[in-house]
Amino acid sequence: MDTITYASSIRVKARYDVLVAGGGPAGICAAVAAARLGASVALVERYGVLGGNLTAGHVGPILGSVGEGTMRDELVSLLGVPDNDWIGETGKAHDVEKAKLALAEFVAAEKIDVYLQCSVFDVLRSGPVGHGPYGAPGDSPRAGAGPEDPAAGAPVVRGLVIASNEAPFILLGKVIIDATGDAIVSTLAGATVFKGREDGLMQPVTLEFTIEGVDESRGLICIGDVDNVQLFGKRFLDWCREQADAGKIPPSLAAVRLHPTVHPGERQVNTTQVCGVDITQVDQIFPADLQLRRQMVLLETFLRENVPGYEKARIIASGTTTGVRESRRVLGDYLIDASELAAGCRFPDVVVHNALFIVDIHNPAGAGQAEDHIQYCKPYDLPYRCFLPKGLEGLLVTGRCISGTHRAHASYRVMSICMAMGEATGMAAALAATRGCSPRKLPVSDLQSAMTARGIRLFD
Ligand SMILES: Cc1cc2nc3c(=O)[nH]c(=O)nc-3n(C[C@H](O)[C@H](O)[C@H](O)COP(=O)(O)OP(=O)(O)OC[C@H]3O[C@@H](n4cnc5c(N)ncnc54)[C@H](O)[C@@H]3O)c2cc1C
Repeated sequence: MDTITYASSIRVKARYDVLVAGGGPAGICAAVAAARLGASVALVERYGVLGGNLTAGHVGPILGSVGEGTMRDELVSLLGVPDNDWIGETGKAHDVEKAKLALAEFVAAEKIDVYLQCSVFDVLRSGPVGHGPYGAPGDSPRAGAGPEDPAAGAPVVRGLVIASNEAPFILLGKVIIDATGDAIVSTLAGATVFKGREDGLMQPVTLEFTIEGVDESRGLICIGDVDNVQLFGKRFLDWCREQADAGKIPPSLAAVRLHPTVHPGERQVNTTQVCGVDITQVDQIFPADLQLRRQMVLLETFLRENVPGYEKARIIASGTTTGVRESRRVLGDYLIDASELAAGCRFPDVVVHNALFIVDIHNPAGAGQAEDHIQYCKPYDLPYRCFLPKGLEGLLVTGRCISGTHRAHASYRVMSICMAMGEATGMAAALAATRGCSPRKLPVSDLQSAMTARGIRLFD
């Protein structure tokens, strides 16, 4: 492969206590939490809208639950879905259009500089130069991938290089939070990252869309594989599989999930999928998006022609970007596994308490679930160490790309839990920046005290 080395002087536009890269559920909560502790904060988002999967990805309902007192509760109220339960039995998908404004107002109410349509494309770090790998498949971190010994002068991440409509610029931060979902900041900084399960396959990408015109007196709801809703005397999802076997829909679309939204007559459809896509490879994005959009139209026709109550269903909106369940995950000081989540793990350095969701692995190689039996979990904790990229200082990672295995990620990736993660890391970043220490040096008991003082319950 040809490479060209070039040097360039780039303007430093501003300095902050806390820089948050990525304005999804985790990044928004991180930025707001840091600002509420008095830190100067910048939030950098590559799209022209805040919300990540919650808006641009058109994903809903907000699933999962966490312990009392977190920003998750504030946000579900703000988005008009305060009754959402952890698994989606009673929950409704939010109004995505209204969420775009609600989230913008939520952030604008704090002293935060928001950089929209600005992409992080590099990081500034002190210490040994050069980047780590851009993500190896499988759950085993690549040997020698990142700096391993923090004591021996670990690199410190100090700033973000931003691509913008102006010209490239640099933002400097005392503490930086990687809330990009795809862990791009951590990757550029040289963190050890890994992708997918042992064979390298990740959960499929999906384009969610909304249909209106469903007759509520007849049109069923199906929240997913945990649902036994019946149609024509059999389990709806079994009926869908038969329809796929009969060639009415492609086999990969056999799990037709139809969530209610806050508006009667609407359904949020979480069914399209393309397997074998690695979204961190740019040449795979357009072909996947094209397939997903074709599937969306197929599904609209299938529903209209075959499912009672859906005769007049019509697509009214879809994601503006491919929905990515899984991409890179960062190796942190602790790597959490689903067996721990299933057992309801507790940690002395807990920063997210009583998180709850199933291990929801959409089949990386076909329709439905990857595992025969869905793994339920007991309410579990996430330790601060999962948010500290191994061997790097000045950096926290948050949201779906924290340090966990493929199976653990399949549980904590839901939006309620990502919001609580974001809040915890935002508070940690603000405290560390105020004290002039790296997040790793922040006594976790001080963070826990600050969280408890905010009303966040961390212990039973
Ligand atoms: C199809 C699908 C269905 C799902 N269903 C549900 C569901 O029903 N309920 C539920 O609770 N969860 C669901 N999830 C999971 C959930 O949506 C995500 O895991 C969650 O949004 C992760 O939040 P996050 O903030 O970590 O990342 P994201 O929501 O991915 O946000 C990351 C943000 O970072 C930005 N970013 C990335 N790179 C850069 C860069 N270089 N520079 C600047 N900004 C950058 C992105 O544009 C994005 O806004 C689903 C996910 C998908 C894909």
